[in-house]
Amino acid sequence: MKRIGVLTSGGDAPGMNAAVRAVTRKAIYHGLEVYGIYHGYQGLMEGDIKRLELGSVGDIIQRGGTTLFSARCPEFKTREGQLQGIEQLKKHGIDALVVIGGDGSYMGAKALTEHGFPCIGVPGTIDNDIPGTEFTIGFDTALNTVIDAIDKIRDTATSHERTYVIEVMGRNAGDIALWAGLSGGAETIMIPEEDHDIEDVVAKLKRGHERGKKHSIIVVAEGVGSGVEIGKKIEEMTSFDTRVTVLGHVQRGGSPTAADRVLASRLGAKAVELLLEGKGGRAVGIEKNELVDYDIIEALGRPHKIDDKMYQLSQELSI
Ligand code: ADP
Repeated sequence: MKRIGVLTSGGDAPGMNAAVRAVTRKAIYHGLEVYGIYHGYQGLMEGDIKRLELGSVGDIIQRGGTTLFSARCPEFKTREGQLQGIEQLKKHGIDALVVIGGDGSYMGAKALTEHGFPCIGVPGTIDNDIPGTEFTIGFDTALNTVIDAIDKIRDTATSHERTYVIEVMGRNAGDIALWAGLSGGAETIMIPEEDHDIEDVVAKLKRGHERGKKHSIIVVAEGVGSGVEIGKKIEEMTSFDTRVTVLGHVQRGGSPTAADRVLASRLGAKAVELLLEGKGGRAVGIEKNELVDYDIIEALGRPHKIDDKMYQLSQELSI
């Protein structure tokens, strides 16, 4: 193998740049040439491909977003789109591809692998919902953004004695809500992996109020439903002054935390190591602080799971 490609795809995540840097530098260190594929699978199909040198990835480790840009490309879900992508890779003499992205992007990498083109998946998404890894690149940064917001809302919630509903991202996974809720000291955490009865949520709020609590914070994962609707219901059922904050895309931005930069560097380098060993069709991840890799097809077949013990702990600490 002489030449590898790297692309970022799907929803961007802080730390993707650190991963691109690691892939590029590790590969060049081992004598490979690296090509950056811009705008995800869209750019792959269109041949938006440029050589990356050591300096191309300088001064990006600290930057949020992705300097390779990202895109959503429905055409890549078709066989024709995938074969067009492979044609472009072959035209540029690229022998293998590192895909940094979420579960949708992994599906693209899986499809390329099934067509015989070796790909490695690197988990880059704030949602932390990729099977085969305990943590994804961007999750820690998003979490810190959410905690910062919760702490600020808590200040104003105390001053005005209000109930606050904070809706966070995570798609169908409750990881951001659970981790942010636990570390932000939320009274209630609502995640899609658990059943929630609004009557129970309200009863808990009322108990807190009777005990003299001045405010309550309820963190709702977007996968549960609309924070606005939940806020409305709570206000109707309690008559407590209730406000809703939907954090939205602020959670996707910002300079990556040290933890995300380290994770991205380790996973990016691991992806190249596998390719150097002649292994394609793998998904890299981290488990118990050790780097791991799985067959990408097999990894995608396993469901992502929430940390049940952590959910139980959050319940016990917020009585
Ligand atoms: P994420 O990677 O963050 O989950 P998406 O779900 O939007 O984001 O997926 C990113 C891109 O991956 C899609 O726009 C598409 O180009 C590609 N993709 C998604 N699903 C598939 C699939 N089943 N087969 C091939 N490519 C796919």
